[in-house]
Amino acid sequence: MKSIAVLGATGSIGASTLDVVARHPDRFRVGALAAHRSAAALAALCATFRPELAVIADPACEAELREHLRAAGVDCRVESGADALVAAASGAHCDTVVAAIVGAAGLESTLAAARAGKRLLLANKEAVVMAGALLKAALREGGGKLLPLDSEHNAVFQCLPRGAPSLDAAGVRRIVLTASGGPFRGRTRAELAGITPEQACAHPNWRMGRKISVDSATLLNKGLEVIEAHHLFDAPVERIDVVVHPQSLVHSLVEYVDGSLLAQLGQPDMRTAIAYALAWPERVDAGVGLLDLAAAGRLDFEKPDLDTFRGLALAFDALRAGGSAPIVLNAANEEAVAAFLDGRLPFLGIAETIERCLDASPAAPAGDLAAILDADLTARRQAQRIIAALSDRASARP
Ligand code: NAD
Ligand code: MG
Repeated sequence: MKSIAVLGATGSIGASTLDVVARHPDRFRVGALAAHRSAAALAALCATFRPELAVIADPACEAELREHLRAAGVDCRVESGADALVAAASGAHCDTVVAAIVGAAGLESTLAAARAGKRLLLANKEAVVMAGALLKAALREGGGKLLPLDSEHNAVFQCLPRGAPSLDAAGVRRIVLTASGGPFRGRTRAELAGITPEQACAHPNWRMGRKISVDSATLLNKGLEVIEAHHLFDAPVERIDVVVHPQSLVHSLVEYVDGSLLAQLGQPDMRTAIAYALAWPERVDAGVGLLDLAAAGRLDFEKPDLDTFRGLALAFDALRAGGSAPIVLNAANEEAVAAFLDGRLPFLGIAETIERCLDASPAAPAGDLAAILDADLTARRQAQRIIAALSDRASARP
C-alpha cells in the first residue's frame, strides 16, 4: 500500500491524481492533501479521501478549512503556511509525494520531498527550471526516486532503457519533445495582438490550470520543458529538440544512434502519466480509453515557429546562458502571465517582459537555495517594472 501526499490537490493535476488513486483503494491511500486557498474544495477532498493531514498554504484560510472539516465530520490534522507544505512533503504520513503546485510556490516542498527520500511524482516543472541541480542533489541525499508527470518527460522516461547511467551509455542521440502548438498555432504576430485570457486558456487538446494553459499558448511551456528535460535526463541542450504535433497523441520520442525513434502514444489525458508514475514499475488502469489509431487517422509534425512564439527561443537561450538565466525566465514569465490573466498586460507583452528581464539580468551563478530565491525575487521586481511600463504604453495608444 502506497501512501500519497498530493500537494496542489485542488488543481488539475491534483484532480487527475485523486481520480487514479480512487480507482485503486487496494494499492493507494492518501496521507496528506494540500492546497493554496480553496478551503471548501480541500475540505470536500478530505471528506472523500480521509488524509491524516490537510494543509492550506495561506494561513488566513486555516479557520475556514477547520470550519468546513468540522461541518463535514472530518477529523484530521490541519496546518497552514509554507512550513506546513514542507511538512506535508516530508512527514511519515506518506512515502510518495505528488508535486503539483503551480509555479515557484512549489519549490521548497518539492526539494523537501526529494531530501526526505520520498518517491517524487513531479508535475511542478517550475521547481526543476529554477533549481534542477539542487533538486538532483536532494534526490541523491534522500535516496528516493523521481518519476516525471509532465506528459513529455513521462513519455521519454518510458522510452529510455531502465537504469541506463547516461544517454550515451543507452545509445541515445536526441530527445524529441512534442508540442501541440497551442491554440494559436499557425497565426502571425499581428494576429496575436488582441488575444484575451479566455482565448489563451482554451487549449485544443488538454484541460489544465490557467497558468500552464497560457504557457502553452506562448510556447513558453515547451521552453520550460526543454530545461526540465535537460535536468531530468542529463541531456545537453543540443541534444533536445522540439517538434510541433497538433494532435497531441505522440507524447514525445527518444532517438537512438542506430536510427530508431521510440515514441509513447496515448490519449491526451494526464491520468496515463500519473498512473504510470504511481504504480511504476508496474502498470495499472488509469481510467483512460484506448487510442484508436484508425479513428485518429493522421499524425502531423512541423517545425515550431520561433519568431512568432518567442517564448520557446528565449528558453533555449536561457538554458544556454545557464546560472540564474532560467530562474529569471521563469520568474518573469510567472509575473507576466499573472498580469496577462489580470488584464494588465497584452498577450505579446509576456514574451517581451521575459526578454527584457533576461537582457537586464546577466546570468550569474545561482547554486544554493538562498541565491536561487534571491535571483527569483530580483527578477520578479524587475518584471513588475517592465509590466507597468508596457501597460502604460498599451493604454497610451489611441
Ligand atoms: P492548477 O492551477 O489547476 O492547480 C494548482 C494547484 O496548486 C492548486 O491546487 C492550488 O491550490 C495550488 N497552489 C497554487 N499556488 C499555491 C501556493 N502558493 N501554495 C500552495 N499551493 C498552491 O495547475 P495545474 O494545471 O494542476 O498545474 C500544476 C503544475 O503541474 C504546474 O507546475 C504545471 O506546469 C504542471 N503540469 C500540469 C499539467 C496539466 O495537465 N494540468 C500537465 C503537465 C504539467
Ligand atoms: Mg507537458
